[in-house]
Amino acid sequence: MQPHIVVAGAGWAGISAAIHAVRRGARVTLVEERPYVGGRARSVLDKTANVMVDNGQHVMMGCYSDVLTVLNELGTTNFLERQRALQVIFAERGGTTAKLDASALPGKLGVVYGLLKMSGLSFAAKRDIIRLMVRIQRRVVQGSGRTCYELLRDEQQREAAITRFWEPVVLATLNMSVRSADADLLLTVMARAFLGSRDDAAMLIPRQGLSDLIDPIGPWLQRHGSVMQLSTSVDRLHTLPETTTTDASTHSTTLRVNRVVISDGTELDVDGVILAVPRKALDRLLQNSSIPIEFPDPPAQSPIVSVYLHYDRPWMPTDFAACLGTTIQWVFDKRRQRPGTVALTVSAGDNIVAATSDDIIKLADRELRDVFSQHMSAVQLTSGLVIKEKTATPAFTPVTARQRPPGDALRNPGIRRMNNAVNNVSLAGDWLDTGLPATLEGAALSGRRAVEILLGERLTGDRPS
Ligand SMILES: Cc1cc2nc3c(=O)[nH]c(=O)nc-3n(C[C@H](O)[C@H](O)[C@H](O)COP(=O)(O)OP(=O)(O)OC[C@H]3O[C@@H](n4cnc5c(N)ncnc54)[C@H](O)[C@@H]3O)c2cc1C
Repeated sequence: MQPHIVVAGAGWAGISAAIHAVRRGARVTLVEERPYVGGRARSVLDKTANVMVDNGQHVMMGCYSDVLTVLNELGTTNFLERQRALQVIFAERGGTTAKLDASALPGKLGVVYGLLKMSGLSFAAKRDIIRLMVRIQRRVVQGSGRTCYELLRDEQQREAAITRFWEPVVLATLNMSVRSADADLLLTVMARAFLGSRDDAAMLIPRQGLSDLIDPIGPWLQRHGSVMQLSTSVDRLHTLPETTTTDASTHSTTLRVNRVVISDGTELDVDGVILAVPRKALDRLLQNSSIPIEFPDPPAQSPIVSVYLHYDRPWMPTDFAACLGTTIQWVFDKRRQRPGTVALTVSAGDNIVAATSDDIIKLADRELRDVFSQHMSAVQLTSGLVIKEKTATPAFTPVTARQRPPGDALRNPGIRRMNNAVNNVSLAGDWLDTGLPATLEGAALSGRRAVEILLGERLTGDRPS
């Protein structure tokens, strides 16, 4: 008989889990408490210009293989624009620009050659960066509990190289400052993306809204005999004891979830459950279900502030640029969504998240005009929108990165204070221990792994009697 899996949460982790579970022969019920899918990566209506925008500009890279698997299934990979090779413009006040262009040579050679040709850094700084890249590539550098800044200083990186090269990379990929981010995550990003093949390093920029990429999940599930329920939360898991081990000192019961209670009161019979919800929602759900587990305290959350500025006409000279020496860090031309619209990003935006939207819009417009003065003298700002995602991603420091629980944490009695393993539940989400930063790819990978964890067990249809 076809096993029935309930997936709680239709963010990118839950969507990935649902697709993999269906592909492995399961019947899936994907349950999402909000009226839309996508979680922290979705589109919203900007009423100031009556245009759909994303809750924050998302960028993917060629090495996002789990994300690409999901989008392939949903038939939306053609909504991504793939660079031929890594190409980034760095722009600063006064109109100075530098270009990192890795297209001249294949793979990592292209990145190295592009760095050597890039202006704005001394030859010595570029040589030091390349030396460290070679060491990363050879896997002779380890994070060893250091922050990115500590590692970079220990590896003789000059301040100019840190400020003008490493800091933008860390902010964009780890959503944290170079001074607090876990160095191992930076090493992973460098090895997988920047030092991978030419395709791995190329940036993938969505040409359509994030929701357009994943909205087909509902019809996709239906076509495969499965369902999605929006505006419905998973509220409680019913467990049954499966086996009990008792010896002189320990008494442990293995549990199995047989029913899932959702917010309309329905109780769904299940063979397996994937909880693809954020950490706080998971704690609540387990508490309601009397499943005792105590994870280490969750890490702090790092905010991302996104600003959409609508000008009276298109003006950007390039598709996107990294801004140096300004509060705004990245600017993307969104003329496809609306001519004249640009999207700005401030990662690890703790320093501006408390400011008013009006002040942030004025600051962003002023900084853009400082950086792109030749292109903006005649353009008028017509409106703007600020989106503050205060819990954009978990902040993985060298300490908290080591406390990320694995996707099989509920089945693993070794996790703190847990003596009742729950056999047929696995976890997904960007906050789990995937080895990757909290990104779309980390989320999609965790979803696939959650299915693999369940499949290792009884998911082949032998429902307990
Ligand atoms: C502004 C911003 C910019 C970003 N930029 C990038 C980027 O450029 N590149 C990149 O790779 N990543 C980026 N990220 C990170 C990326 O968006 C996240 O890592 C990813 O979306 C997390 O997905 P998830 O499925 O793990 O979690 P979530 O998206 O949080 O999904 C969890 C889902 O569970 C639902 N839920 C909670 N409780 C229940 C319940 N009891 N029952 C049912 N449903 C429930 C929630 O409503 C939610 O939909 C960015 C994030 C933000 C906020």
